Amino acid sequence: MSRTYLGHTARKRFGQNFLHDEYVIDQIVSAIDPKRGENLLEIGPGLGALTEPVAEIVDRLHVIELDRDLAKRLREHPFIQSKLNVIEQDALHFDFSSLANNQKLRVFGNLPYNISTPLMFHLFSFANYVEDMHFMLQLEVVKRLCATHNDSLYGKLSVMSQYYCSAQAVVMVPPSAFKPAPKVDSAVVRLVPHQKAPVEVHSVDTLENVVGTAFNQRRKTIRNSLKNLISEDSLESLGIDAQRRAQTLSLNEFAHIANWVYEAGID
Ligand code: SAM
Repeated sequence: MSRTYLGHTARKRFGQNFLHDEYVIDQIVSAIDPKRGENLLEIGPGLGALTEPVAEIVDRLHVIELDRDLAKRLREHPFIQSKLNVIEQDALHFDFSSLANNQKLRVFGNLPYNISTPLMFHLFSFANYVEDMHFMLQLEVVKRLCATHNDSLYGKLSVMSQYYCSAQAVVMVPPSAFKPAPKVDSAVVRLVPHQKAPVEVHSVDTLENVVGTAFNQRRKTIRNSLKNLISEDSLESLGIDAQRRAQTLSLNEFAHIANWVYEAGID
């Protein structure tokens, strides 16, 4: 299979799979529904499959692209260059608050799949600066983002996603929509940060630590997996059966445990 598209050879290390299916591109742009005057930011614009139709609608668009050659192409784009603020940087280390001065950001992108999970956690930390996000991701990652307790794909990403946002799959995308075609199905997820967190936690870092520790040994009961953080008796005092596994615990229950751990000064 050729890895060259529109004169650019796709770089695996940058997770480059370029969208070429016009119908799918239309569906994604409709789901984003960009409007003039909004503070829009695209992560990984690549060859401009989403950038071009969005820039046609709006006056200004920030784009973050790590690949030097693609950033140069965008800076020299014959039709939309004057509307673009091309930021040639790694999105994983980018301070998203720097673009949300007076207006929250609407973020979108067909994300590089090789960094999608750390990128989601990085973005969550800027949830206060974000109005909404639309991301193309591996279908499995979208399912993880949307999973609730007792779902088979429920894990740390699901719990933290629920803490920060409401999540919903909005477009399903087959491998044939990309060049080169990935081996997996994809989907676009809409994430809308909560105005107010659904649970009160003393420390988000403690919540993340408790959830991560519980899911690191997901087959064990929480009596075992969390034994360095909270005792069986203390779990029972919170009304949580210590024989349960991480997968059965709701965000609310994780928040209770995290608050206990924080108050006990263990984390
Ligand atoms: N948006 C284009 C499309 O839909 O055809 C390209 C999508 S491609 C899956 C991912 C894009 O993200 C590539 O252009 C790649 O160079 C860029 N990219 C990869 N890692 C990145 C990073 N850490 N920060 C910013 N952009 C990155």
